[in-house]
Amino acid sequence: MDQSSLEDIIKKVMGQMDGAKTEEAPSCDDSIPVELSGRHAHLCEADIEALFGGPLTHVKELSQPGQYLCKERVRLIGPSGVIDNVAVLGPARAKSQIELSLTDARILGMKAPIRQSGDVAGSPGIVLTSGTGLVGLEEGVIVAARHIHMSPADAAAFGVSDKQKVPVYMDGERPAVFKDVLVRVHEDFSLAMHIDFDEANSCGLGRKARGKIMSASQEA
Ligand SMILES: [Zn+2]
Repeated sequence: MDQSSLEDIIKKVMGQMDGAKTEEAPSCDDSIPVELSGRHAHLCEADIEALFGGPLTHVKELSQPGQYLCKERVRLIGPSGVIDNVAVLGPARAKSQIELSLTDARILGMKAPIRQSGDVAGSPGIVLTSGTGLVGLEEGVIVAARHIHMSPADAAAFGVSDKQKVPVYMDGERPAVFKDVLVRVHEDFSLAMHIDFDEANSCGLGRKARGKIMSASQEA
């Protein structure tokens, strides 16, 4: 078979595959949208009350279902620095947690561990203020480990499982491979990789970046 016939066949087959895509198969494209997470606070009910004297005000839905940006903002006061105007995300959580970049932690004068969201045991505390309230957290300041949210259907399509760590290739002007990207699988998750601004800036990524999970053979 000559080259052009082969290409015709490939095009035809690919076209049929495109046509066969259905809504139930969300991950036909093998790239993953990358979202940049700025510094933010998740707060428990008691801390919301102490800081704002009432419930959070919903402003905008975020990509993960049920998560939203709030109108309220907090000031972070660390041992040797302050960061103002930090976003608060709803809904309320069982325990307050502040997610920073390593650069933010340096500005505040603290060493924040790189952790999965929710794993705050033994992390440093911090002081939060609003216009009217003040809260001192005993612990809860972390740098979120880079991760990918996906549904069970996505996980099956990518051949990965919950808590697996995968390498992800980032294309662009300064291409890079992020290793140890934590896969998080849940029925409520929509497909998105989350990294912070330090990580994004290190390889010049913009708002429309996409990443690709690498196979073991590609990584070697
Ligand atoms: Zn996330």
